[in-house]
Amino acid sequence: MKYLIDTHTHTLACNHAFSTLEENVAAAASKGIEILCFTEHGPKMPYAPPDWFYAELHRIPQVINDVRVLAGIEANITDEHGSTDIDNLSKKAIKFVIASLHKHTFRPGKENSETQALLNLLDNPFIDMLGHIDTPFFNIDYDAVIKKAAQTNTLIEFNNGSLHGVRRGGEHNMVKMAECCKKYNCLAAFGSDAHFSMDVGEFSTVAGILKEFAFPEELLINDKPDLFFDILKKNEKHI
Ligand SMILES: [Zn+2]
Ligand SMILES: [Zn+2]
Repeated sequence: MKYLIDTHTHTLACNHAFSTLEENVAAAASKGIEILCFTEHGPKMPYAPPDWFYAELHRIPQVINDVRVLAGIEANITDEHGSTDIDNLSKKAIKFVIASLHKHTFRPGKENSETQALLNLLDNPFIDMLGHIDTPFFNIDYDAVIKKAAQTNTLIEFNNGSLHGVRRGGEHNMVKMAECCKKYNCLAAFGSDAHFSMDVGEFSTVAGILKEFAFPEELLINDKPDLFFDILKKNEKHI
């Protein structure tokens, strides 16, 4: 598969990544990535940009050096009702939304609260992708969540960075996720979760896992820009 889309990248703006947007764009161009999602952490992540940063995303050119830049956000899911830290933000400039559980911003309460949070979140039509649900920090009922994601036009992310960074140990969860995507015909995406420009467009670890598992290529959107844009338009984005 020729990867044309990276759905998940960070920049200096979040204060724990190390490259600029222009450096990420240059890396994307050099790797043949045509659509780069710039998905900075939502405002509740410690040291993330303040809320007005996201209202200014419209200042970013839509095309830089022939790379289409989709300015989005990696929202934090904050409670089991599926609330996020973008619920009260201006959404006009946001072209792509990942919603993720992070241990800094979500504390599981009673049993199944992670699954409940994700199921409730999926009722929010503005969410385009569930980020790194392979995380070993949380207990997630993949069957229930991915079944609903397939019905609500929400991508399941296979996060390459998970397997190299702070969330190591979720490989077996990725296999369960892949099984459920196949079972429910749920679309999925590779995301690099790059925190340094050289990692933009880097999917080799997750691709290796899914290849071993014979994951159907038709469920992966990274080489299907038209399908990707259709999903975003259905999810209330002005593309
Ligand atoms: Zn994340
Ligand atoms: Zn991220």
